[in-house]
Amino acid sequence: MQTELKNADEQSIGQAAALLQAGEIVGIPTETVYGLAASSLSDSAVTKIFKAKGRPQDNPLISHIASLEMLPMVVQDIPESAYRLAEAFWPGPLTMIMTRSEQVADSVCAGLPTAAVRMPSHPVALEVIRKAGVPLAAPSANLSGSPSPTTAQDVLADMQGKIPLILDGGACSVGVESTVISLAGAQPTLLRPGYITPEQLEEVLGCPVAISDAILNRLKDGEKAASPGMKYKHYAPKADVTIVNGTFDAYKDYIREHNEKGVFALCFEGEEEFLPCPCVTYGHETRPDEQARALFSALRELDARGAKTVYARSPEKTGIALAVYNRLLRAAAFRVTEV
Ligand code: AMP
Ligand code: MG
Repeated sequence: MQTELKNADEQSIGQAAALLQAGEIVGIPTETVYGLAASSLSDSAVTKIFKAKGRPQDNPLISHIASLEMLPMVVQDIPESAYRLAEAFWPGPLTMIMTRSEQVADSVCAGLPTAAVRMPSHPVALEVIRKAGVPLAAPSANLSGSPSPTTAQDVLADMQGKIPLILDGGACSVGVESTVISLAGAQPTLLRPGYITPEQLEEVLGCPVAISDAILNRLKDGEKAASPGMKYKHYAPKADVTIVNGTFDAYKDYIREHNEKGVFALCFEGEEEFLPCPCVTYGHETRPDEQARALFSALRELDARGAKTVYARSPEKTGIALAVYNRLLRAAAFRVTEV
């Protein structure tokens, strides 16, 4: 299959919508990361997503809608809290889990009684959904397990020859996947951290949000994930990554002692000049929003430069930085060294 990469404009958005209506899959920009989209209502179309990504069948997908009118196509028994969160954060990087609708394809829910839904804010994503007229299931447009794509070129690198069309809508402004909150249980529960923080959610809900253990801890053998995307290794470059937790001085000493061939530092901006090995940066130490935007392209750059071993500076574990830490922890297969 020939993969076309086109600037998103009226013509190419129309082409994307026609492909989606015909049961094809298309790479589209969103504000979080690039998505690989198919109609949420078509099992055969959604199956193509799993195949192109090499994604395990037990990992459910998020459906993307362009208006609240589309919400009942994906979920039912919608609690009042969902409307309050939608009012506060949609369109934007928040995904809610609720009871699934009858209509949504079984493969989107991966056998669960629930479905995940969000309204993205990227104008191209919204226009593609509107024109297609159906909710779009869209996981990140990368090969399963590798770093998520934050540019159209990243999508092409992973999906060339596997999908007919990629729309280029520029670099993603958020850079990490959406915050996922479950409203399906007795207490609202954060399943995946993102740009919308637990504190922001609690303020709107007026009640505490439980934080799933799996956000910062590896699942035990045989343990079932509440949110399958939180499993073990994920988002990983080819190099072995270790998070080095401590002050910058201690990190510097650690790198000096471990500075073998193929070692790279994944550090914050401005730290390169003090380190003895090749460096890739991901934002400024005090700017978690920059870290979120830069992390996945930094991981891809480490691969491109042939890194074998990566020692990463640790993000904070609160606010937006919690989302960055959660992704880096999986890229590192949970290897953390305290210094
Ligand atoms: P992505 O990999 O960005 O497409 O995000 C999909 C992730 O959302 C999955 O890996 C799950 O972690 C979460 N998710 C989607 N649907 C559900 C669901 N019904 N129940 C729990 N988590 C879900
Ligand atoms: Mg993904």
